[in-house]
Amino acid sequence: MSPRGSIPLGSTLSDTMRCPLCATEDTRVIDSRPAEGGGAIRRRRECLVCGERFTTFERPVILATVVKRGGRKEAFDREKIRRGLESALADRPVSDGTVDDIVARIEASARAGSALVTSDELGKAVLAELRNVDEVAYLRFASVYKEFQGASDFEREAAALERRDNGAPVL
Ligand SMILES: [Zn+2]
Repeated sequence: MSPRGSIPLGSTLSDTMRCPLCATEDTRVIDSRPAEGGGAIRRRRECLVCGERFTTFERPVILATVVKRGGRKEAFDREKIRRGLESALADRPVSDGTVDDIVARIEASARAGSALVTSDELGKAVLAELRNVDEVAYLRFASVYKEFQGASDFEREAAALERRDNGAPVL
């Protein structure tokens, strides 16, 4: 049984890693090379206490940042996207699984490229998804996102939706 205590604060700041066999922090890197086509680094490590050798991989974790209209930045929040979708889809015949899929697609697109996305782009991505799933939800979200001023805005958007559908079955 390996002794597994809590790691003292500050001890993780170096490049050492605890031995998976004896849990000592006295390990060293004996080889380091690019892996996965340069997308990761593979390190061979050796425990200086028990002699165990093990491999670790270092991979980037990309967190998306959202740039708000005023220029302020905040971390991408998938729950915020989910809440927006759920309120637009309230009482509509759309499964939770569909919402999960949409959230996952939007998160993946937000992380693509520079992982910097504007709140406008996010809003448009949500609109594009909702347009394919449920027209009522699309119009609800559009009325908030596009800040409809009155009934005429709503009618214009509904008419645009109808032109685009061109005979497709309406839910
Ligand atoms: Zn060890």
